[in-house]
Amino acid sequence: MPFIALGLMPELARALTERGYVEPTPVQAGVVPAILAGRDILAGAQTGTGKTAGFTLPMLQRLQAGAPQRAPRALILVPTRELATQVHESVLAYGKYLRLRSLVVFGGVGIHPQIEGLRRGTDILVATPGRLLDHAQQRTVDLSHVEILVLDEADRMLDMGFIADIRRVIKLLPPQRQNLMFSATYSDDIRRLAQSLLHHLAEVEV
Ligand code: AMP
Repeated sequence: MPFIALGLMPELARALTERGYVEPTPVQAGVVPAILAGRDILAGAQTGTGKTAGFTLPMLQRLQAGAPQRAPRALILVPTRELATQVHESVLAYGKYLRLRSLVVFGGVGIHPQIEGLRRGTDILVATPGRLLDHAQQRTVDLSHVEILVLDEADRMLDMGFIADIRRVIKLLPPQRQNLMFSATYSDDIRRLAQSLLHHLAEVEV
């Protein structure tokens, strides 16, 4: 099945073909149409299944259709700086034929270049929860225009003790938004977080 059969636009399909992707992975076939349709998602997907493209591609397409802003319109929360960098690089690669900007912020490095980047503006913000809250407290990020929230590796974020930070971040977001949650494992905590977060839920187990 070609990528455009999932409803993806030619600019995205072209970037994928150039990367040598021939067809969607099962996770992508499962989540892309639902995300394009504006549904909330709880997907059980391990690393290596193509989950990053699974949420990034339809997210880019929905952002491309909307009006540009200086403040981020998509927020991707991840547990570690390594994953943050990886996801940011995937966003740039898949979106190379679109006019959308991505920025990544994480702890353990200087905050000032991040503040500069946020001031310049971005469509997509990839962040670890702690550093994002630092920016929110210093009012160097405006989260009031976020239309799409992604929690990537949600189980790892909970294992690392980020639940309170995640809930603090969520309070700063507009209530009307699309929520996409990915977790390799399901626990009671994950289900509770999903229940408090997700509307129009399409659960995809893969
Ligand atoms: P992820 O599970 O998101 O970490 O992705 C795992 C790896 O699969 C990454 O190196 C991607 O570049 C690659 N990948 C994602 N989607 C596809 C696809 N449809 N065809 C081939 N490779 C892919």
